[in-house]
Amino acid sequence: MLTLLHLTGGLPVLAQSTNHVAPLLHYTLTIDSTDLSGYRVSIQISHAPHRFRLAMATHHEYDDRFWRWVTDFRVEGSAAFFREDSAVWAVTTAGGQVTVTYRIRLPASGAVHFAHRPYLGPNGGLVGDLHSFMYLVEDDHLPCRVTLRLPPDWVAATGLDRVQTAPMEFTASSEPMLLDAPILVGRLHSWVFTVNGAPHQASYLPVGAAPGLDTVALVNAIRKIVRGCADLFGGSPFHHYSFLLEEGRVGALEHANSVTIGIPTSSLAAGAQDLYEEFAHEYFHTWNLMSIRPSSYTGLNYGPQQQSPGLWFSEGVTMFYADLICRRMGLRVEDSSRPAHLAALIRRYYENTGNTVFPPSMVSLAANALPGPLGDYSASTHVQGELLGVCLDLLIRDGTDDQHSLDDVMRLMYRRFGGRRPFRDSDVEEAVRSVCHCPDAHSFFVYHLYQGKPIDFNRWLRPVGLRLETGSQPAMSARGQPLPDTRVYAWQAPGDTQLRIGIENPNSCWAKAGLHTGDTITGINGRPIQVRQDLQTVVSTLHTGDTVRMEVRRGPRTDVVAVYIGGYPVPLIHLIEDPAAGAKQRRLLEQWREGLSNRKSLPG
Ligand SMILES: [Zn+2]
Repeated sequence: MLTLLHLTGGLPVLAQSTNHVAPLLHYTLTIDSTDLSGYRVSIQISHAPHRFRLAMATHHEYDDRFWRWVTDFRVEGSAAFFREDSAVWAVTTAGGQVTVTYRIRLPASGAVHFAHRPYLGPNGGLVGDLHSFMYLVEDDHLPCRVTLRLPPDWVAATGLDRVQTAPMEFTASSEPMLLDAPILVGRLHSWVFTVNGAPHQASYLPVGAAPGLDTVALVNAIRKIVRGCADLFGGSPFHHYSFLLEEGRVGALEHANSVTIGIPTSSLAAGAQDLYEEFAHEYFHTWNLMSIRPSSYTGLNYGPQQQSPGLWFSEGVTMFYADLICRRMGLRVEDSSRPAHLAALIRRYYENTGNTVFPPSMVSLAANALPGPLGDYSASTHVQGELLGVCLDLLIRDGTDDQHSLDDVMRLMYRRFGGRRPFRDSDVEEAVRSVCHCPDAHSFFVYHLYQGKPIDFNRWLRPVGLRLETGSQPAMSARGQPLPDTRVYAWQAPGDTQLRIGIENPNSCWAKAGLHTGDTITGINGRPIQVRQDLQTVVSTLHTGDTVRMEVRRGPRTDVVAVYIGGYPVPLIHLIEDPAAGAKQRRLLEQWREGLSNRKSLPG
């Protein structure tokens, strides 16, 4: 039997079955301007099975646990339901057409207003995605239709496919696509431009009536970033793309064909130029993370977050290109030159000593997890991965006499893995070896990826005649005073009432006093510690030579640990151009410094 689905926007239009007809999902999201404390969602399920489960999904990178804010869950008609798990509702019905309704009650915003979380204000807000829509656990690849009911003068911007004849009707080819498409609503300012045949829309939600910055300059910068990525990859994994810009909020989050980006108040005066690299980073993720996927970053899941060992490539190499694409397109970047940027990265690499101790796969796995997997070390998959990207780029430029670069690896990875199976480290090695055939490529992956040895900078910088000299010096204030060792923080697991300690370095005065990451802290200097800020408040007033008494619960007893506050060393990094460098090294250095794309077709 064939069933005609009344959907448009490039969706499959036929569902074929003999005994079982695939359910159809029609979501309606309603915002009432007289009550902006939340919004209502209804899900109309046609051809519903007799038993099914609806769940709120967990994002791969964070867990906002928005199931806590679901209220008034109801199923219309003769149906029974119960909450099977925190995030899961089980429903039993007679089948046929079933309508489920619930309300999302927006939580009070904390001190930090994250751009990826739903909110509503008199001017508009953010709704949609996995914070709003539940998915059918037993069948999570159904085409979806979405109807928005908004206050009269509000419009919507989203990565969902728009139904041409109805401005508030959208479609998604599957539930994962629906749950990965936030919807910016309100009195938006929007611009549309096309690059490589793909329409891009930038939509801006101001705090007041008008944007607080020069939006023409901002949209021009976005257009350059889009052009830079299009030039690199050629093709794109989307038919259209939406930049969702939220004034007065912070942070950014990539999606399959959209991004939410906060423009904090502090960035308005400078026209958000300090965010250009972030724009480039998130947009580059559309290829490297959303399309070229690391393992575990696939499918929908309502359980705990899934960690991935491949973020050194997905995050780190994306950092590499955020800087490089902005340079190529003449946009403002943080560091004055590529060598200055490299020196800054290497300093951060040695500052977080976990980068030199743990293999990239372990640092990746710890990236979005709670503190603990790396013990008393801290590490950054972004820094470690970006430096691995720098070294791979130099290795390829040297091995091909600058005929090829990491750009070719990205194109090859996109061709091989874009929208297909997740990649592994060995797949990246295979792509590098396809591009450059250089003997060092295998040893690079063996040493640094498979065995996890620290990056041997002098080996990989030699082809461009750069030499690294390292040392250390006491951390000093701008006035030349030794800085106290404050490498400690408090953290709390979701749902846990206890505060725990995070130690950033096993040689810190905190670790030497016998404290460890994960210890439960109850007080400091005789005063109770109740929220994370309590510890930071005390730590921010410390001087070298002070002693603090930390109260730590260990099993049934509470220990008092005296911590003598010392200074701490910071790495000294000198990147030196070797005066004895040969002609090829000098030429490669010049070309690397320029950072231009060397788009040559690959053999085979
Ligand atoms: Zn990222």
